[in-house]
Amino acid sequence: MNMASRRESLIERELIPLSIPTLRGNEWKYIKECLDTGWVSSVGPFVEQFEKKVAEFVNAGFGVATMNGTAALHIALQVAGVEPGDEVLVSTLTFIAPVNAIRYIGAFPVFIDAEPSYWQMDPQGVQDFLKKECQRRNGALYNRKTGRRVRAILPVHILGHPVDLDPIQELARLYELPVVEDATESLGASYRGKMVGNLGEIACFSFNGNKIITTGGGGMIVTNNEKWARRAKHLTTQAKDDPLEYVHSEIGYNYRLTNLLAAMGCAQMEQLTEFVSTKRRIASTYSKVLDGVPGITPMSEATWANSTFWLYTVLVDREKFGIDSRTLLRKLERCNIQTRPLWQPTHRSKAFVDCGSFDCPVADRLNAEALSLPSSVGITEDDIQYVLEVLTSPNS
Ligand SMILES: *Cc1c(COP(=O)(O)O)cnc(C)c1O
Repeated sequence: MNMASRRESLIERELIPLSIPTLRGNEWKYIKECLDTGWVSSVGPFVEQFEKKVAEFVNAGFGVATMNGTAALHIALQVAGVEPGDEVLVSTLTFIAPVNAIRYIGAFPVFIDAEPSYWQMDPQGVQDFLKKECQRRNGALYNRKTGRRVRAILPVHILGHPVDLDPIQELARLYELPVVEDATESLGASYRGKMVGNLGEIACFSFNGNKIITTGGGGMIVTNNEKWARRAKHLTTQAKDDPLEYVHSEIGYNYRLTNLLAAMGCAQMEQLTEFVSTKRRIASTYSKVLDGVPGITPMSEATWANSTFWLYTVLVDREKFGIDSRTLLRKLERCNIQTRPLWQPTHRSKAFVDCGSFDCPVADRLNAEALSLPSSVGITEDDIQYVLEVLTSPNS
């Protein structure tokens, strides 16, 4: 095929999306069961089944289903003891949801930079803040500058890869802070042989449409702490003290997941292990070519990690590659390939200007250079080869 006719055929290609669901298991069957039995709302057997399945998958004791991952984070932070006016250490390089959840409580984020190797929360940054900026007083920990109480650490396992959690856990124990994992992007990943979502005191998952499994929209809190699990259930169901008399002694939320969506979740969970291996295969297919391309650095996997490669992401060095990440994005877009940069680091978000100023140069650089490539479980080998062909074609 000559260049001109190849171009023609490229234009006719259908869009290759960044990440779309694969629904080829028992989704129809289980949802139909809900419709046939009338159990469509917030109570029903699939809710409990789904909670059990996810908790068991990460070897945790308890699961509490929620309407989305952000709601799960809001409740998990509250259950972990975070109160209005407190501070929570959080990765700056993340989708904004966990920082919003901190603010819902009226607490404040302390933004921690990413480390350059795997782009996750930097344990050194956590240590520097706790050691240099904080002070213990009356059995509690305070930020010396703001005077606020420091209450929890919220590492976000981004893009399917775990945070290096051992050194963070060690600090958490030393300073007596609970670790609340945002594991929404990394269901199925593991860290030193332990499942992500069972590395801290409490963790959150999301089943939004672009996540590794989906319920259309949904979330889950998992924990080994039975009291916390019960409290999370209580808070997500309007904090109802008496099911008959409707007595409430505190403010609750309606954050429940419906049986209908939990049914879909059960069907998706049956396919999760296969989805993880497919994502890993997609990543190795990409890396086989991209490892040798000057100016392109694929996301790597730590020796202590098993990543799901939820979104396969590369760094684009403008000098060595010839164009920057955003120009590459537009080039791929012209060929109907959907890609996406990483989020604006949240310490730069206008929404959080009143939370203080933070210096996070690694997150800033990753934001400038990163591009996530199409990573759907259902992507074909042919589509991957096409993405690679366009990506490595001469920049005009
Ligand atoms: C997807 C996601 C969430 C939760 O998202 P929901 O859409 O509310 O389910 C939270 N944190 C991160 C890092 C995410 O990527």
